[in-house]
Amino acid sequence: MKKILVLEDEANIRSFVVINLRRSGFEPIEAENGEMALEKLKVNPDICLALLDVMLPDIDGFEVCRRIRATGSKMGIIMLTAKSQEIDKVTGLMTGADDYVTKPFSPAELTARVDALIRRLGIDDEERSSTELVSGPFLLNTRNRTLEKDGQRLKLTQIEYLLMKLFMENPGKAMSREDILTAVWGNDFKGELKTVDVNIRRLRIKIESDPTEPEYLTTVWGYGYKWGY
Ligand code: CA
Repeated sequence: MKKILVLEDEANIRSFVVINLRRSGFEPIEAENGEMALEKLKVNPDICLALLDVMLPDIDGFEVCRRIRATGSKMGIIMLTAKSQEIDKVTGLMTGADDYVTKPFSPAELTARVDALIRRLGIDDEERSSTELVSGPFLLNTRNRTLEKDGQRLKLTQIEYLLMKLFMENPGKAMSREDILTAVWGNDFKGELKTVDVNIRRLRIKIESDPTEPEYLTTVWGYGYKWGY
């Protein structure tokens, strides 16, 4: 998993960024001030990208950026700037940042910038294959949690996504409803097995050509379900 440094002093913004990076398959390393960021970089030399807030209680983000570049590091650097700091963009790019994102930003915007920079810097590697599951006409991307059938994006709920992931990771394996319930809803879920059936029925409507004659997500009578492709 690619490590990304998140330097941001505001705890709520930091956790927002961290949650979204984690959801996108990255491993965020958090720092709440400049000194801590430099320390984390020393301990984690494999950090491939840094998100640096500008306004910090100690040394500002530009200075952190300058110090990272001074070590000869080629890691990707994206500055997080406030809207009022238009000038920051210029300063940021001059100090060696690769890109900047203006606050407030959406999770999609941030992930898009991070992905673009990773591609641009050629940091992307064999990991691509491990984020895609292919089965018949289906392509499941575990990084952005999307499903395509014959190249067409299908809209799934998070539960449906988790069901698809479970099945596509276990092709041909009969899975009991109990196993499915635990794998998708978790150990603490006190729901009924019927929950599994209801969600499978909905999922079939989305993925099967004829949900009454399922071709992919088949029933194992008296037991559970199977990815039959
Ligand atoms: Ca700040």
